[in-house]
Amino acid sequence: MGFSNFLGNEAVVQQLRRSILSGRLPQAMILAGPSGAGKYTLAVMLAQAANCTDPSELEARQPGELPDFCGVCPNCVRIGAAAPLRARFDEAVSAREELREVDKKETRILIQTHPDVLVVPPDPPQLLIKLGQVRRVIHEMYRFPSEAKRAFYIFTSTRFMKEAANSLLKVLEEPPEFATIVLLAENPGELLPTIRSRTSLFTLGALPLEALEGILAAQRAEWKPSQRSLVARLAEGAIGRALAFPLERYLASRQDALVLVRGAIAGPDYSVLFRMTETYRSGAEGQEKMVDLNRALMSLLEDLMLLLAGAPQLVRNIDLTAELAKLAAAVDLQWVERTAGGVVQLESGLRRNLLRSLALDAFANEFVR
Ligand SMILES: [Zn+2]
Repeated sequence: MGFSNFLGNEAVVQQLRRSILSGRLPQAMILAGPSGAGKYTLAVMLAQAANCTDPSELEARQPGELPDFCGVCPNCVRIGAAAPLRARFDEAVSAREELREVDKKETRILIQTHPDVLVVPPDPPQLLIKLGQVRRVIHEMYRFPSEAKRAFYIFTSTRFMKEAANSLLKVLEEPPEFATIVLLAENPGELLPTIRSRTSLFTLGALPLEALEGILAAQRAEWKPSQRSLVARLAEGAIGRALAFPLERYLASRQDALVLVRGAIAGPDYSVLFRMTETYRSGAEGQEKMVDLNRALMSLLEDLMLLLAGAPQLVRNIDLTAELAKLAAAVDLQWVERTAGGVVQLESGLRRNLLRSLALDAFANEFVR
């Protein structure tokens, strides 16, 4: 347990731990970084570290040793229970579904596994932070923490409804001493400038490729080295994305995407093509499969574009280098751009519920050179 489980971005993590040590953790902060960078994980860890009651954390710390957390004291356990965000969110949403119609409208989604730590996710179905949620934060925030030393209010998104943002702004003008508001932001620019100017910004940067590959080698030993290398590239420096990467699903979609790209370049082998497109059926499962396919198609086209632009070192589907080089030799940039445009159209056609397999066949035919 403890911060040793947080991978990467050591400098930011140390800075925050030092501020806990000196009692100067900001009352309002933005944790910025791409999706999967570990913003939420770190926010929960900070709440644990600021409130851990383990005697070795409280008394036996060496001078200069940075605060950590035990993970097993009552505060750590209850705060840590909020860590699986998706699961807690789904529970809160289904609990609301059970309510009477009138209560449902009044109930906002909040996650609270410890009396002094409140997690505020965007409220469905619009997935925005709403006024009711900020009001609840304001309501709780000015009471002394009951079991924690420092209360935490963690907003997991920067998408605020206008009144909600204005209301938050008022709290930020004079937040209480004993609480910290954490805003998790993929893009801090989405926040009002007046909110940004009242908060301290901490940014989790992308991990270098070698660091991600090293972590995957330790934690995903079952993957082949070429696959770990592929995932490290596709994750774009985000550790969470790398560790949760659906490798098998991606490889299956990419196989189908390759059938389309090969067919578009060399002329389709219709029996292979129809056998593939037939598997894209209507319904939610087919919809997901189609989203995956579009993503894989785009990643192949981007790689072709990189090869044509003379930047082979940036290619992400690194395990296909030889085949991609061959394909790139048969096309030019205009073709790649036109085909990428076709993928976008394919996506919008599917949103209009064109029959998936037909749309795919049409796509394959249109891009035969
Ligand atoms: Zn603890």
